[in-house]
Amino acid sequence: MTYATSPAAEGDSIGQLIHDALAPQVEAIDQGRYPGDFMRALGGLGGFGAALPTEAGGLGRDLPAQIDIIAQVARTCGSTAFLAWCQATCAWYLHRSDNPAVKDRYLNAVTSGRLLAGTGMSNAVKHLAGIERINLRGHREGDGYRISGALPWVSNLGPDHLLIVAAALDEGGYVMFAVPPGADGLTLRACPTFAGLEGSGTYGVRLKDVFVPAQDVLSGPERFDAYVQGFKPGFLLMQIGMGAGLVQASLDTIHATNQRLQHVNCYLDDQEGDLGQDLQQLLDQTHALARQGQDAPLLNILRARALGSELSLRATQSAALHAGAAGYLMSSPTQRRLREALFVAIVTPALKHLRKEIHTLEQRQAA
Ligand SMILES: Cc1cc2nc3c(=O)[nH]c(=O)nc-3n(C[C@H](O)[C@H](O)[C@H](O)COP(=O)(O)OP(=O)(O)OC[C@H]3O[C@@H](n4cnc5c(N)ncnc54)[C@H](O)[C@@H]3O)c2cc1C
Repeated sequence: MTYATSPAAEGDSIGQLIHDALAPQVEAIDQGRYPGDFMRALGGLGGFGAALPTEAGGLGRDLPAQIDIIAQVARTCGSTAFLAWCQATCAWYLHRSDNPAVKDRYLNAVTSGRLLAGTGMSNAVKHLAGIERINLRGHREGDGYRISGALPWVSNLGPDHLLIVAAALDEGGYVMFAVPPGADGLTLRACPTFAGLEGSGTYGVRLKDVFVPAQDVLSGPERFDAYVQGFKPGFLLMQIGMGAGLVQASLDTIHATNQRLQHVNCYLDDQEGDLGQDLQQLLDQTHALARQGQDAPLLNILRARALGSELSLRATQSAALHAGAAGYLMSSPTQRRLREALFVAIVTPALKHLRKEIHTLEQRQAA
């Protein structure tokens, strides 16, 4: 079966890189190795900038192409696909900023993977959806801002990485900004062991009276709402790539095990044909929404993102049931994908968060 992305197609340099440099280290990544070399190499091939113009260090293609690259990575390693999403999303934020200074400082370096970057936006995104209090707070100081607070989990980080976050201001409104590596008052703390995503470079982040100069501001309070509404479609649609790649990999497993076990696997729910059809529909829908850009209705984007989580949970579970005991071995990618799919459904916006936002928009439309 062929889907929108296939491994190491001829002339596909990203596919070749995934095959040569990512596939051999997937188990080590699952156990905690951060794949920095792969990330830098992927950036060198334009793997984070497919949707960005060449002057921003991108490939000058479009958002569907970026979603497909993330899916291609996820087909081999869901954890690294999340890192690719983090990096592509940081480039996306920077590209969409109307502050030329912050773009000059970071955009090309992030898009090309020379500067790796984490997005600590879960808390702010949940706060804006009325789910939790905001953790970072600050106030204006001269041309910049002074910020303090802590975030429990931010991935794709390390001592040389950029961090992008948002804070509430005492005088009202919000600011979104970049914190360069080694900034005074920034500390990273190791996290407790996770059930998956151990190689995702995830740290607890603390900002203590960090000064954010004007040239590190992505959006100030004047345009914050419009800025968030502007980056949100890409933020959500690119996440679907993580789920789509896991579904593709699960279909590969189902197809392979059925060569031997079709006579009994045929009694399971979620057969290869059904899941393949659902995946194709999800990809078609996601690509269509990505092509619509800012005109795509948010409700449809949220529904597609939720579908991506639901389908990855279903497909990875079905692959595990098809594979049986062989898939239950710690060395099998089948059990790893169950944990990665769960992450797709709990990372912000988690399935419960998506359903809350979908419910609110549906109620508003019905009123
Ligand atoms: C492996 C991993 C990587 C992540 N990477 C990122 C990232 O790169 N960027 C980012 O912004 N977010 C990241 N997150 C956070 C993620 O996106 C969600 O916000 C987080 O999982 C909380 O969602 P929830 O649905 O559990 O929140 P809720 O169920 O609403 O929980 C309420 C809040 O309690 C806090 N909480 C619960 N248990 C603990 C605990 N043991 N320690 C500290 N706080 C706790 C959570 O932060 C959460 O916000 C990561 C989470 C994990 C597990």
